[in-house]
Amino acid sequence: SRIPRIVILGAGYGGIVTAIRLQKQLNYNEADVTLVNKHDYHYITTHLHMPAAGTDNPENARVEISKLIDEFKVDFVKSTVLQIKPQEKKIILEDSTLSYDYLVIGLGGEPETFGIPGLLEYSLNIRSINSVRFIREHIEYQFARFKKEPTRKDYLTFVVGGAGFTGIEFLGELADRIPRLCREFDVNPELVQIINVEAAPTALPGFDPELVEYAMGVLKDKGVTFKIATAIKECTPDGVILATGEVIKAATVIWTGGIRGNRMLEEAGLETSRGRVVVDSFLRTKEYENIYVIGDCSIVLNDQGRPYPPTAQIAMQQADVCAHNLIAAIRNSSPREFKFSNKGTVASLGRGEAIGIVGKYKIKGYSAAMMKKLIDMRYLYIIGGIPLVLKKGRF
Ligand code: FAD
Ligand code: NAD
Repeated sequence: SRIPRIVILGAGYGGIVTAIRLQKQLNYNEADVTLVNKHDYHYITTHLHMPAAGTDNPENARVEISKLIDEFKVDFVKSTVLQIKPQEKKIILEDSTLSYDYLVIGLGGEPETFGIPGLLEYSLNIRSINSVRFIREHIEYQFARFKKEPTRKDYLTFVVGGAGFTGIEFLGELADRIPRLCREFDVNPELVQIINVEAAPTALPGFDPELVEYAMGVLKDKGVTFKIATAIKECTPDGVILATGEVIKAATVIWTGGIRGNRMLEEAGLETSRGRVVVDSFLRTKEYENIYVIGDCSIVLNDQGRPYPPTAQIAMQQADVCAHNLIAAIRNSSPREFKFSNKGTVASLGRGEAIGIVGKYKIKGYSAAMMKKLIDMRYLYIIGGIPLVLKKGRF
């Protein structure tokens, strides 16, 4: 009989780990595995706040896919997915068509703008290598512009919309970068404003209040101004308009107000909520049992029926179970149910500072920053072993 075809869409945390697990566990000629990704590199999304602010090089946040997969076992196709056709079991790429027996969708998230006018057009997002290179250049350019037009204080005003973990981690890096840019461009640091706008009654809603207070203290000391319980209502070419009516003139607006699933899922006719698919306990869609959805495109509900936050941590755990279940489907053996095991959360606040909960322990400051480095290195080890840790690890 014909060899079953497995197609994996997206080489993010979910997709790349699924491919790595399959290449290890599948026997020779048991399945054809194809991995499709827009770029020929995997990006380490959890690092992106650093190259975005310019405190690290974008090269450290990406790895060539050819270094991670065994080309004898997994076919890599560099292309952009345009359409998923579940009824025909076909994937339309920008330059070709693929057919599959089993599909894994790991296309990641997209910025959620909640329909707020102007955000799509005028704000910047921390989403990919290309987007963070743009942010980094944009920030530097504002300093250069200011030297030409010294009355334009809006060039030196940086608004970050949303104080979730992405916003908080970016603020930490940006606040570290600004003093260096001020020296480089001979700009008085007092003219620079970093403003965070958060709609919820607190930064990091839902996280431990003591750690949130600590984080805000660290960031305030570095020069960040918080506007909490204040929503962004509109983004314009000149800045943002808040729900209070206040207008902030700023040449830079970074939107970190949340993510939704990739639009192609709803376009494929799958039932979605904010673009994400609620998967069954084996990580399959309820419409098609040969389609698995993992990572930011998927929703897994906890025991209280609430979705777990979309993280790299859950995406990687899903990838393990997804690879197991694909092999089980091919071998007619029993699939495994997905159960999320939360190892905790650690978020950086810039150089040498972080907060986190690991197991039942709260950590903060330097020890938390070390823990964050360890977590980052553990990931490099999982996907690329010791050589990748040595090459991309930041010690
Ligand atoms: P992604 O990693 O986003 O990968 C999706 C892949 O699909 C990409 O390679 C993309 O190029 C590709 N793709 C997209 N569209 C197409 C297309 N049309 N055709 C072909 N390819 C396509 N989580 C944690 O657990 N811990 C952290 O410390 C942490 N830090 C973070 C820091 C930042 C700054 C950000 C932004 C996020 C952070 N997260 C963290 C969240 C985490 O990064 C995401 O949950 C995770 O990346 C989701 O993985 P994924 O595989 O679903 O998607
Ligand atoms: P998020 O959804 O967690 O946070 C978005 C924030 O924006 C929320 O606090 C929300 O109240 C706020 N917001 C929404 N609309 C707004 C408006 N109109 N005006 C002002 N504020 C508004 O999004 P995120 O921070 O990008 O995180 C996405 C996922 O990635 C989460 O699951 C997060 O846990 C994960 N992540 C984890 C880490 C880490 O573990 N270190 C780091 C980054 C992201």
